[in-house]
Amino acid sequence: MADLVPVAADLVVVGSVALDTVKKPFGNVTEALGGSATYFSYAASFFTQVRVVGAVGSDFPREHLELLSGRGVDVSAIEILPGQKTFRWTGEYGFDLNEAHTLDVQLNAFAAFKPKLGSSHRKAKFLFLANIDPVLQLDVLSQMERPALTALDTMNFWIEGKREDLVRVLERVDVLLINDAEARMLAREPNLVKAARAITGMGPRTVVIKRGEYGSLLLSDEQFFFAPAYPLESVFDPTGAGDTFAGGFMGYLAQHDAVDLASLRRAMVRGATMASFTVEDFSLDRLKRLEPREIESRLIVFADMVRLEG
Ligand code: AMP
Repeated sequence: MADLVPVAADLVVVGSVALDTVKKPFGNVTEALGGSATYFSYAASFFTQVRVVGAVGSDFPREHLELLSGRGVDVSAIEILPGQKTFRWTGEYGFDLNEAHTLDVQLNAFAAFKPKLGSSHRKAKFLFLANIDPVLQLDVLSQMERPALTALDTMNFWIEGKREDLVRVLERVDVLLINDAEARMLAREPNLVKAARAITGMGPRTVVIKRGEYGSLLLSDEQFFFAPAYPLESVFDPTGAGDTFAGGFMGYLAQHDAVDLASLRRAMVRGATMASFTVEDFSLDRLKRLEPREIESRLIVFADMVRLEG
């Protein structure tokens, strides 16, 4: 009998679609395609169909939207707001590429964006609330009919600036994906395991903490899991690594329409694999050249890296 092909479930993401300026010790990039929903949806498109909810200004180059739709991403709920400018982020990295320092955020089109989701978006089984204003995350979450799994990402900008709203969204999501410094800041706890445990008390049953080159941890009442980072010798630009990780993670779960413990572990490794490509070049440049067989080869290296015996 032929293997059953899993029926992919719908995946919706709300998050930033942006123009990024990134300063690094070895070179800069100006107004390149970026944004949490952009990296997420491009990465997830290697696993399943994704629908993006977001807003851009009339200055947003059309070819960026065409790039996403060329990968099968549904961009029909990205509103182009006339007379508005696109969200802009400027960030800087020192020699320690694990941590970005935000120099400037201009919300622009996102400042007053009020999405009205259509029925195919509202019915999606998987929802990712990518890094953006928690008020907007909550608005989208409230419009969903009955998602099987909801996950959230955020950053220091919102933890410091909109903590109360963020706590309200957290109460209603299943999974939080966050980096280590932000987990400590959110939980007000320096020990990472204690911080993750404290966050599960704030709502999400599962917490995924990303630690850049040191890998990622998953903690829930049922399991503790660790995935290493792919051993890269040259990390060019870590911008978008977290969102790409989330795209691989959620893309895999939606592709298999699964939320069981083993699938969550497999999703972590897909996330880590996808992130390992993003950091090899600026913006989405490495993902644009990515072939599915390259994902497969890195997954094989991952499996070998964590084999304890033999
Ligand atoms: P990451 O490196 O995965 O944490 O995400 C970097 C991306 O997040 C960049 O492409 C930015 O455009 C986007 N970003 C940065 N700051 C914010 C913010 N305050 N809200 C939403 N998106 C942001």
